[in-house]
Amino acid sequence: MAKRTQVVIVGAGPSGLLLGCLLDRAGIDNIIVERQTKDHVLARIRAGILEQTSVDLLTSAGAGARLAAEGIAHHAVNIAFDHKLVSVPLGATTNGKVVTAYGQTEVTLDLYNLRAAGGSQTIYSAGNVEIHDFDRDWPFIRFVNNGKAEEIACDLIAGCDGYHGVCRASIPDNAITTYGQVYPFGWLGLLADTPPVSTEVIYANNDRGFALCSMRSMTRSRYYIQCNPADNIERWSDDAFWDELRRRLPPETAEQLITGPSLEKSIAPLRSFVAEPMHFGRLLLAGDAAHVVPPTGAKGLNLAFSDIYYLHQAIESFFANNDIAALPHYSQQALARVWKTERFSWYLTNLTHRFNADPFEQKMKEAELDYITASPAGRLMMAENYVGLPL
Ligand SMILES: Cc1cc2nc3c(=O)[nH]c(=O)nc-3n(C[C@H](O)[C@H](O)[C@H](O)COP(=O)(O)OP(=O)(O)OC[C@H]3O[C@@H](n4cnc5c(N)ncnc54)[C@H](O)[C@@H]3O)c2cc1C
Repeated sequence: MAKRTQVVIVGAGPSGLLLGCLLDRAGIDNIIVERQTKDHVLARIRAGILEQTSVDLLTSAGAGARLAAEGIAHHAVNIAFDHKLVSVPLGATTNGKVVTAYGQTEVTLDLYNLRAAGGSQTIYSAGNVEIHDFDRDWPFIRFVNNGKAEEIACDLIAGCDGYHGVCRASIPDNAITTYGQVYPFGWLGLLADTPPVSTEVIYANNDRGFALCSMRSMTRSRYYIQCNPADNIERWSDDAFWDELRRRLPPETAEQLITGPSLEKSIAPLRSFVAEPMHFGRLLLAGDAAHVVPPTGAKGLNLAFSDIYYLHQAIESFFANNDIAALPHYSQQALARVWKTERFSWYLTNLTHRFNADPFEQKMKEAELDYITASPAGRLMMAENYVGLPL
C-alpha cells in the first residue's frame, strides 16, 4: 500500500522548508520530496536581505534564534546616480521598520536544522517526480527513491519547486495564465570574505551600467554589476570584476572598497514572471514556482515567504474546518501582494539600470530619484515598498 500523509511538499528550498516547519507546529503531517541532494540545497548562494515580515515568520516558525543574533539591520537604502549618493531612511519613514541582512544559505540551514530536529521526513535526490490526480480528492505523487519507484498519497500538494519545477508545468495550459518579461541584461555577482564597503546597501546607476553593493555579514560582501546575460563567466577574472565595480561607484565609495579572492562568481538572467491562479484543485503553488522577480530590491525570497504565510493559514483552515474554499482564497490573497511586489521590483530595476541610450529616459530617472529623496511622499513610497508591504 502507498505511503500516506496530509500534505506533500515538492521542493526543499526556503518555501518548502518553511511551510514544512509551520505545518509541523500546527500538527499537520507533511513529507518533502526534493530533486537535489541535501548538500546541493544547503550550499546554494542566493538572496540576502529579509523584510521584517520574513524575520517575524521565521521567528514564529522557531527558526529565528541565529537570525536574531547574527542578522544585521539596515536603516537606509542608498542610491547613487552618476557618482552622487543619496540615502532614503527606512525606519524613520515607516514607523521603525527596517530590513535585515542574513543570507538565504543561512536561512535554509536554520530551517533544515529545525525540520531535522522535529523528525518530519524529507526525501532528497528524488528522481522523476510526477504529481497526479490533483484535480480530484485523492492526489498522489510518484518518484524514484534509491532506484525504486515510490508513491505517496495525500490530501494536498504544495508546489514549492521553483521556476523550473514540475508542479506548475503539470497544470493544464487552459487553466493557468502566465505574464512576464525577460530583461536585456543580467547580473554578474561576486561573493568575497571582505568587509562590506558600506553598512547599508548601495544601488548605483552609472553610465557604464548598474552596480550593487550588498553584504551577508560584517566580514562577507556580495557585489553585483550589470552585464550581458550571454557573457562568459570565464572572461571575468576577479581583478576585472573589482576594476569594473570601482568605476561604477562614487569615488569616495570606490576608495573604501576592500577586495579579495572570490568565493563564488556567477551570471544570473533577470526576469519578471507571474502565473495565475496559484491554485488548481488540490495543488497550491508558492514561491518561485508561481512568480519570479528581478533581484533589484531583494524581493524574491521575501515574496516566497509571504506566500507561505497565507498558504499555511489556508492549509490549517482546510484541515480544521473541511474548508475547501480556503484553497482558491489562498491564491487571491497571495496574488494581491505578488502583483504589488512585482511592480516595485520592475520599477526599481528600470530606475537603477542603463539599457536604453535615450537621454530623455535618463532625465526621467533623475527626476524620479529627486522625487523619492526630496518629497516626503516619494520617500514613503520607496521606504514602505523596500521594507515590505504589510501582509
Ligand atoms: C541565481 C539566483 C540568484 C538569486 N538572487 C537573489 C537575490 O539576490 N535576492 C533575492 O531576493 N532573491 C534572489 N533570488 C531569488 C530567491 O533565491 C528565490 O526567490 C527563492 O529561492 C525562492 O525560494 P523557493 O523555495 O520558492 O524556490 P527555490 O529556492 O528555487 O527552491 C525550489 C526547490 O525545488 C526543487 N525542485 C525543483 N524541481 C523539482 C522537482 N521536479 N521535484 C522535486 N524538487 C524540485 C529545487 O531543487 C529547489 O530545492 C535568486 C534566485 C536565483 C535562481
